[in-house]
Amino acid sequence: MSKKISLSGIQPSGKPHIGNYFAMMKQLVDQQEEYDVYALIVDYHAMKSVKNPKVMKENIINVVLDYLAIGLDPEKVTFFKQSDVSEHTELCWIFDTITTMPYLMRAHAFKDAQAKNKEIDVGTFNYPVLMAADILLYNPDIIPVGADQKQHVEIARDIAEKFNNNFGQTFKLPEAVIMKDVAVVPGTDGRKMSKSYNNTIPLFSEYEEIKKIVMSIVTDSKEGIPKNVYAIHNLLRPATELLPLYESKAGKYKELKELLIEDLEKFIAPLREKRKEFAKDIPKALAILKTGGKKAKKIASLKMNEVREKIGVNVYE
Ligand code: ADP
Repeated sequence: MSKKISLSGIQPSGKPHIGNYFAMMKQLVDQQEEYDVYALIVDYHAMKSVKNPKVMKENIINVVLDYLAIGLDPEKVTFFKQSDVSEHTELCWIFDTITTMPYLMRAHAFKDAQAKNKEIDVGTFNYPVLMAADILLYNPDIIPVGADQKQHVEIARDIAEKFNNNFGQTFKLPEAVIMKDVAVVPGTDGRKMSKSYNNTIPLFSEYEEIKKIVMSIVTDSKEGIPKNVYAIHNLLRPATELLPLYESKAGKYKELKELLIEDLEKFIAPLREKRKEFAKDIPKALAILKTGGKKAKKIASLKMNEVREKIGVNVYE
């Protein structure tokens, strides 16, 4: 019997952070024995924020190194980038024709941008539809993500259902898998940790960087237990251990932050070292990405043939 499929992706839009790691990257590592894992680099999504080709190239290579460093095994996992499989954008268009504007206007990313009075590009508006194509082309069973992506997986399911109802059973409905304790990892300012908020702890930080970032975590002088420091620390140690420690050191922010620095360094240092090893052979990392792209392309093109057949554009024998 073939394995179930798990698929998830990350934007090459900056350094990955510990929020990405605990919510999504670690899940892929843990699943790689039991599932057929697809680790996607969504470079076309990243175009929303990355407009410099040199930076885009560097970011893509960096994500491959990140995936390798966290322990994803290229023998078991398919690493690939969206732009190597043109079927993603092709299917996105087909989905566009069955998705309404009012429906997409309910998406959080669009509503947030609108609330901030941003000039919204069509790509940002359409982002959940491209994500639906990213997912549905591969018939995955599960999508490990952070809570911020829950709605997007639901949109993918809705689009799949709509297509299936119109054209006959074609797409499997995937389930989002969101780890309860790390659904929303807070950043140094207490908001959701995000590459776009400048509040992250990068996953491969150097010791000095960790020190600087942790010391900058916002604390409120009224709290005995500094909320933001505790929430980040709780990713590394269970509450049963952490709570008595924080209670015994209530109000001693500097000491608590120093403990967090040491725990972060213990967790990050081995990953950082592994990443440096992989970074010595960039051509090898790129070969892995290319091979994964070819494998994904085969699967996606079969699925697209099925889609073209279903919608009636396959007129040749
Ligand atoms: P970012 O928001 O930092 O740009 P991405 O959009 O590349 O991150 O998201 C990659 C994955 O990491 C997604 O599954 C997303 O849900 C998850 N993720 C991002 N930030 C967080 C966070 N602060 N807490 C939990 N999961 C997160």
